[in-house]
Amino acid sequence: MISNPLIFTLTSDLAGKSRGKAFPVSDLEKRLKRGVGWTPTNAMITCFDAIAEGPFGSLGDLLLIPDQDTSVELDFEDGGPVERFMIGDITDLDGNPWNFCTRSLLKAALARLKMAGGVQLVSAFEHEFQFTGAKKALPGDGFGLRGFTDRRVFGEALMAALDKGGLEADTFMKEYGSNQYEVTNGPAKDHCSADQAVILRELTRMTAKRCGEHVTFVPILNPASVGNGVHIHMSFLDQTGNPVTYDANGPAGMSVLTGSFIAGVLKYLDKIVALTAPSDISYLRLTPHRWSAAFNNLGFRDREASVRICPVTSTDPDSIARQYNFEFRAADASASPFLALAAILHAGAQGIEDELPAPKVIEEDLSLLDKTTLTERGYVRLPQSLEEALCRFEDNNTVTGWFPDGFSDVYTAHKRYEIAYLGDADMDARCIAYSDVY
Ligand code: GLU
Ligand code: MG
Repeated sequence: MISNPLIFTLTSDLAGKSRGKAFPVSDLEKRLKRGVGWTPTNAMITCFDAIAEGPFGSLGDLLLIPDQDTSVELDFEDGGPVERFMIGDITDLDGNPWNFCTRSLLKAALARLKMAGGVQLVSAFEHEFQFTGAKKALPGDGFGLRGFTDRRVFGEALMAALDKGGLEADTFMKEYGSNQYEVTNGPAKDHCSADQAVILRELTRMTAKRCGEHVTFVPILNPASVGNGVHIHMSFLDQTGNPVTYDANGPAGMSVLTGSFIAGVLKYLDKIVALTAPSDISYLRLTPHRWSAAFNNLGFRDREASVRICPVTSTDPDSIARQYNFEFRAADASASPFLALAAILHAGAQGIEDELPAPKVIEEDLSLLDKTTLTERGYVRLPQSLEEALCRFEDNNTVTGWFPDGFSDVYTAHKRYEIAYLGDADMDARCIAYSDVY
């Protein structure tokens, strides 16, 4: 077949979907400067493609400008087409960041963190996903070799794809759930970890397709089972590149800065989950005993905590300081990685600015406590529906104030239209609807 190769430039939008346009490779020089045309109303397109009522109508023009640092060119060497794509930033026609460009919102949050704490973020996104379709899942495969070998060909192709996509392949494993797997990659600085999360999701989908299979990053596939989490690992470097997350004398090893950051995240957590776990079914996953997150607690090596201090394997102080990191667990892949991380960083930066004291580190099951005891101890149960999460977000002026004017109205209108689209579908049908889009 004749061919003029194309590059797809994309934005990870408010629905956490990769959307954009393609142009011939021969136009790259020009497109890196001028981008491709983009439309404001695209911000209202929900994950189901229905367009919510918004302030933009049919008016206005924007540019989606590809960032060559995110360029992926991948030949699977299977006789199929070469994949080429780049993530971009959305600007107005004068080149100013657009208020609803998730990547630009993350860059603003990173700048705030730098101002508040004098630090640079290092982070990594850990992803769980499930195969859907033909192959029947056998019981007894949780973390197992048999489940792994079933998808060894896929796993090895994925590792190669990540490598060619500029990511540092880390691990691939058979997770606990039925047909569920997990893939991790190495950490990156600033917004690059979120770029990599977008790239990883797309490469995972593409690799599955080349293997004749289908994967989904749906937050939860079976209401009776475990969910697919996105766990975001974070640590900080000072201006000279030294790690400043750890302090041997701090509680559970937290530096003062880390303590305040996590305190901010936990203080605002119930108000930002609408941005980090933003689908209707995300709240099925955020329930006790699913190894996700149900309360605004900090756990020491506890996989039921919203924020978990992760283990280190080193013994000498310098290596411990480099390895030490904490993990945000109340996120899933229905959120754009840019928007989820922006919300977390704003909450953390607020904690640093307000010099909040480090939260207590606990190792207990909060679901066993009654409401009064929880309140006395400063814990809140996370919202139990998307609607509740949206209300907590829009009702908090501090949180909405972290985002540009009009953002909370647009975001909540978008998300409420997504809920309305589902009508009276039962939970199983909702999970299936989301598994088709993520
Ligand atoms: N599947 C769990 C989640 O929904 C996480 C399991 C784990 O700790 O890896 O977040
Ligand atoms: Mg896992």
